[in-house]
Amino acid sequence: MNISDQLEKTALENPTKEAYIFQGEGVNYQEFNASVTKFASTLSDLGYGKGDHIALVSGNSPLFMIGLYGALRAGATVIPINPTYTVDEMSYILRNGDVKAVITLDLLLEKFEHMDGLLDVNHYFVGESGSGIDLNSSSLSTKMKSFTRSVAAGSLDYQKPLIDREDVAVILYTSGTTGKPKGAMLTHRNIYSNATDVADYLSISSEDRVIATLPMFHVFCLTVALNAPVMNGGTVLIVPKFSPQDVFGMAEQYKATVFAGVPTMYNYLLQTGKDQVDTFKHMRLCVSGGSSMPVALLTAFEEQFNVQVSEGYGLSEASPVTAFNPLDRPRKAGSIGQNISNVVNRVVDELGDEVPVGEVGELVVQGPNVMKGYYKMPEETAVTIKDGWLYTGDMARVDDEGYFYIVDRKKDMILVGGYNVYPREVEEVLYEHPEISEVAVVGAPHPELGESVISFVVSSNPSLTEEEVVEYCQAHLAKYKIPSKVEFMDELPKNTTGKILRKNLREQVTQS
Ligand code: AMP
Repeated sequence: MNISDQLEKTALENPTKEAYIFQGEGVNYQEFNASVTKFASTLSDLGYGKGDHIALVSGNSPLFMIGLYGALRAGATVIPINPTYTVDEMSYILRNGDVKAVITLDLLLEKFEHMDGLLDVNHYFVGESGSGIDLNSSSLSTKMKSFTRSVAAGSLDYQKPLIDREDVAVILYTSGTTGKPKGAMLTHRNIYSNATDVADYLSISSEDRVIATLPMFHVFCLTVALNAPVMNGGTVLIVPKFSPQDVFGMAEQYKATVFAGVPTMYNYLLQTGKDQVDTFKHMRLCVSGGSSMPVALLTAFEEQFNVQVSEGYGLSEASPVTAFNPLDRPRKAGSIGQNISNVVNRVVDELGDEVPVGEVGELVVQGPNVMKGYYKMPEETAVTIKDGWLYTGDMARVDDEGYFYIVDRKKDMILVGGYNVYPREVEEVLYEHPEISEVAVVGAPHPELGESVISFVVSSNPSLTEEEVVEYCQAHLAKYKIPSKVEFMDELPKNTTGKILRKNLREQVTQS
């Protein structure tokens, strides 16, 4: 089974059930599945199939969903790309990923006009945004096909190719902290097994209406808010761009039952949602992942909205989920939960040996969700997957009940005069401060100590001073963990997924 075949099964079982709702319009599973088949047949008529790489460059939309499932049904490999990437970032991925066709929106065409000469792309399937852009005058007009017409013109009698579970379904380019982005190859088995295991673990059913506001090109949304509900006949509530108003509005109008977000989204919802609590009254579960959920934020959110927040953990290379807080056993704040079914997490030392309970080591993962490898990068693959274990680059510990705790990313650790400081520990303390709404801690070079701790803070009180913040930390942290500098900001820099960009903050420190 793969996710595209599973969609056919869902459509047979729940033909009239709404698959997704976008801009007030619902589309049922029969219609969605028919569009997917028709788009696959058009792709196939144009010669696309197994072994071909098709890029999907769009925000959250029906085009993304039909494009994804349609290309997979045709047997092709899909490369989802962040539409806000610059021409350079995008053209690197399109070239490295050997992309032959692109599914995108008219609004983004300009980017492709700039890079087309460098690419080996034969067709652009272009969705109309209604912005009135004249496609005929584009330099790409000879390669362009209307996405809507490509779907409408396809055939329902399409004979789909046989898909092997080890075929690569999706290549996800991870941002990569050093060097160029790497393409994690996820097979049909990887994607299908993780979506099934996550759906089982979180009891996702046809009764669920899941808010999809995380970007669909990111694996968190792809698996948790897209594949998991689609496999089970749930309804995807498409929110193209995160805003608290849109989330509250969709939650209220369509009685949403599941919300998936990164901690910064929870923070926005908490800060702006005091009078919106009722909109979440049908919500049975809120899922957090992508970065660590500060305990103070988690408990404040649960109290305000009267709903359980279940934190999980994952990474692109693991399709992505490896651990989640359970629903039928106690959830532990600050923990990423326990192994989901079929996946094993372990905490190991430098030699790859398991460390005792409570001790910190690197988190490694094994399971059917672990990627095949990085596309065309065997050396990178060999240092990431060793002896059958995926090395996550995250430091963690486990308790005696099998709950894992992410301490921090290995590379984010700060070394102050020989002592390890994990930014998360300092951040957790600062999040407890009643006037601090957002915080990130990074290391800065220091002439004597090697590194020192710098904290970036967003505060609701404009007269909060550096001295007061430092004093607050002194009451809760050992001396070497106290920030040597506190920078106040209106907002912390974040990527499109909503993760805080520590890299930018580190650069800011070294430049100042
Ligand atoms: P990505 O491949 O973009 O999904 O990023 C994966 C990384 O996000 C992981 O390696 C972790 O560093 C981080 N991450 C994901 N979930 C969590 C979590 N619950 N707590 C802490 N870090 C997380």
